[in-house]
Amino acid sequence: MARYTGAVCRQCRREGQKLFLKGERCYSDKCAMVARKASVPGQHGQSRKKVSEYGIQLRAKQKTRRFYGVSESQFAKYFDMAERKAGMTGENLLRILETRLDNVVYRAGLANSRKEARQLVLHRHYTVNGERVNIPSFLVKAGDEIAIHAGSRDSSKIKSIIEINGSRPVPKWLDVNHDQLTAKVVELPNREDIDLDVEEHLIVEFYSK
Ligand code: SF4
Repeated sequence: MARYTGAVCRQCRREGQKLFLKGERCYSDKCAMVARKASVPGQHGQSRKKVSEYGIQLRAKQKTRRFYGVSESQFAKYFDMAERKAGMTGENLLRILETRLDNVVYRAGLANSRKEARQLVLHRHYTVNGERVNIPSFLVKAGDEIAIHAGSRDSSKIKSIIEINGSRPVPKWLDVNHDQLTAKVVELPNREDIDLDVEEHLIVEFYSK
């Protein structure tokens, strides 16, 4: 699977929005979106031409895909899943992405970024309902409890993550216990619980062509 390996902050500047791809730095004044006043990267970044309807839809799709750090093919698969569910396809899509285990771990403050969460999940540092899960794309359900595995709790890496992220706001659909290092999925997120500034109907239009 092809993953983006270029300058990470460039992706945020391209989308004109913080995508929170670098962990602690994203919450500091060192964030490129603060330091460089969110200019579009590249020599002609300041003189953008009028964007076509297709271009606007493409950007909405790319921004969302980059925010969650998923590949094109995985994203398209999630769109198919979202279409098959009852309700609004765009909202279904965001809910599916939001309930990926790597995202939940990040949202709960149990990892510095989604990218780091993905690595830590792959290295079997988390459990879901008491069972080790090493699949970042695992989709959690309401009632599931995510925890740091007992064998990982004393690692200096995990301790530093908890120290850095302990005060980060947690969405209301997750109930985080910082002492037990657990996060319970109270309910599945609604659109207003998801802080991604995107018009998801544009993604639906993109795939409807
Ligand atoms: Fe994006 Fe984080 Fe870089 Fe800021 S520091 S531009 S939010 S990746």
